Amino acid sequence: MAGFTTTILHNDRQSLIEHGSVHKPIHTAVTYGYSDARELAEVFQGKKSGYRYGRQGNPTVTALEDKLTKMEDGVASLCFASGMAAIGALPLALLKSGDHVVSSAFLFGNTSNLWQTAANLGVEVSFVDATNVANVEAAITKATRMVFVETIANPRTQVVDLAQIGALCQARGILFVVDNTMTSPYLFRPKAVGAGLVINSLTKAISGHGDVLGGCITDTGAYDWRNYPNIAVNFQKQAVQQWGIAQLRAKSLRDFGACLSPDAAHQIAIGAETMALRIDRQCSNTSQLTEMLAAHPKVAAVYYPGLKNHPQHGLASELFKAQGSIFSFELNADIDCFDFLNHLKIAISATHLGDNRTLIIPVAHTIFFEMGAERRAAMGIAESLIRVSVGIEDPADLLSDFKQALELS
Ligand code: PLP
Repeated sequence: MAGFTTTILHNDRQSLIEHGSVHKPIHTAVTYGYSDARELAEVFQGKKSGYRYGRQGNPTVTALEDKLTKMEDGVASLCFASGMAAIGALPLALLKSGDHVVSSAFLFGNTSNLWQTAANLGVEVSFVDATNVANVEAAITKATRMVFVETIANPRTQVVDLAQIGALCQARGILFVVDNTMTSPYLFRPKAVGAGLVINSLTKAISGHGDVLGGCITDTGAYDWRNYPNIAVNFQKQAVQQWGIAQLRAKSLRDFGACLSPDAAHQIAIGAETMALRIDRQCSNTSQLTEMLAAHPKVAAVYYPGLKNHPQHGLASELFKAQGSIFSFELNADIDCFDFLNHLKIAISATHLGDNRTLIIPVAHTIFFEMGAERRAAMGIAESLIRVSVGIEDPADLLSDFKQALELS
């Protein structure tokens, strides 16, 4: 089997493309015509495969989905307008009022808010410290439909014991959903720990250039959908492995319209071609930067699973090819974090992650501001926490930028 990057680069050419084009073209059509109206009816009835309407599927988007399925070694993928649209599809398409979800308490803030919204609609959500699998086990009830975790939690970088939680879910017939955004399928494949569904924000490392939004759910084939009580009879007509994706496609794309545009799909596919190269450089830069900061007298704490003093350093080293390009840190209490940020010349004060450029943000004052101090504390987020997404800049430039900003602070 070809390697990660070779597979992505040559995947489009596995089926015939006109003129010998090496990229799948951007198909802009919203609707698809059939010379035999009976065939049109068969496509609508699911008896024959084919495209019907852009909201439900598009050939350029399919080409990207196919690559994402290969990246995650899955059986099928579904693309969405953003990473949050992909996560939002979980309650919309797979949960009912009265169902229960166990979620890691250490989550990207918007995902945490989304689970609060699901709770308002009658889904019970238990947030637990999932770094201890016993907490996950204790929270499971008869109504538990899924367990949701991130690989490396954004922004405090806690790593849960993915393999133990996967085994627990498998033993109980519960769907294990893993948000792989912080690691990407290049550094980690959640299928290896029994995840049934994998979420990737395509906005981040997979596209990499900070110029397009997208999200994806991949079914790894590890979950037996016959154990899932919420799959409607309509979606049980295909092979069992396709049941989940079929229901997700109908309820979140057809009925809700959270679809990815073909132009965005093309842009993401182009970005994905260099993902592995970019991530290698970002991880190396992150390692150098976190080591320098950890040894600096003006820095109080650095949170990065690649550092030996991180509580889950051993676990993360076993699970992931490298420890990613996102870390967070706290300055000494007498330093104003805004002054420090304003002294940086290369790192940009901005939200977002997985970008080619180094981005830095004071977490409690921005992306986690709305949720308030109490919920931040429960997620392990100090008021002075600063998150960094490390880019592909030349390492010496990045190190000297942080050093000079610390000197001036
Ligand atoms: N999941 C994680 C871990 C994230 O960090 C983010 C965004 O930062 C998302 C999901 C949402 O992705 P998007 O911005 O594409 O909606």
